[in-house]
Amino acid sequence: MSGAAELARIEALQRYRVLDTLPEAAYEDLVLLAASICRAPIALVSLVDEGRQWFKARLGLDVDQTPRSISFCDHAIRNPGEVMVVADATRDARFAGNPLVTGAPNIRFYAGAPLVTDEGHALGTICVIDDKPRGLDEAARAALSALSRQVMRLFEARQRNLELQRLAAERELMTHGMIEYQRQLEVENAGLVVEASHDALTGLLNRSGLEKLGGAAMTAKWLASGVYSVAVLDLDHFKRINDTHGHAAGDEAIRAVATEIRRNIRGGDIAVRYGGEEFLLLMPGTPMAGAMTVTDRIRLSVAARDDLKEPLTLSGGIACGTSGLDDPEAVFRAADQALYRAKRGGRNQIQAAED
Ligand code: GH3
Ligand code: MG
Ligand code: MG
Repeated sequence: MSGAAELARIEALQRYRVLDTLPEAAYEDLVLLAASICRAPIALVSLVDEGRQWFKARLGLDVDQTPRSISFCDHAIRNPGEVMVVADATRDARFAGNPLVTGAPNIRFYAGAPLVTDEGHALGTICVIDDKPRGLDEAARAALSALSRQVMRLFEARQRNLELQRLAAERELMTHGMIEYQRQLEVENAGLVVEASHDALTGLLNRSGLEKLGGAAMTAKWLASGVYSVAVLDLDHFKRINDTHGHAAGDEAIRAVATEIRRNIRGGDIAVRYGGEEFLLLMPGTPMAGAMTVTDRIRLSVAARDDLKEPLTLSGGIACGTSGLDDPEAVFRAADQALYRAKRGGRNQIQAAED
């Protein structure tokens, strides 16, 4: 696969935002069916990420992921249209020396049906594995293919759902009290507006998106909610990650942070990629204690990511305001000062603004 094709494939995979999500019954059911139809002790839904394969569902295997370099699925995705069958891995030059073959789980037989997007990107496979050499009859092969299409249906539905939730929340805010902007929406292509308001790397709102939400909408929301919190996050020693591992690794880390933010904030909260490696969280209706819980959870889940080039931490500052009473700009400045204290205090921590 060319570098550009692989890059496009990874981007497609990331758009589904399924990597590192919790197990879900619908996928567990599909691997159960795969194992039972193919009479195999192990069945997996495996996604081939940049440097690893990660399992969205697994039966008969106890690890969440393995390095990509020893992944069978990495070979299967090279032919998106085909089910790849390895009858006896010990007799296959590609796999005979593979540690998954020479040691546990002692793979002999492998069959994997690629998970292919509409644009033709193979994201991973649904596959079955046996520790005995064997074949796969035509009916089972066709069934495995059918199951791969079902996995993709689940991915598509999931993506549509996430997108709808996000758009609904933002649309509600944008229309709330923003007659001027609404009028604009009617003449502009809504899709283009969303694109210009969102950061391409992370999918979060960008600074211009934040400005479009605008004083009016924000104030209306805050008025309704009374107390609100603003958190400012900044990645620690981020220049070093770029300098040591390159800009792409830096971008990957930024995306990872955005993922953790998205996973931890609540429905009405707004996350903005405010600067290069700076993020802003607006939490209407949330007093300091709640904001601290959410923000510290983000800090901890970023620090717990073990798939990045090196451990990543962030620092944050939080300030609260009451709508109608406090100037949002002043609240933002107070959060920024608290962030400064978090940095000075040794980083990897969240500080609350002093009263
Ligand atoms: P500190 O802990 O004090 O925040 O240290 P820092 O290295 O993070 O310092 P600072 O905030 O001044 O530097 C941010 C660096 O983040 C500068 C730039 O190299 C990098 N950066 C900013 N935007 C991006 C981006 O979009 N992608 C990548 N890869 N790096 C970025
Ligand atoms: Mg910074
Ligand atoms: Mg920084």
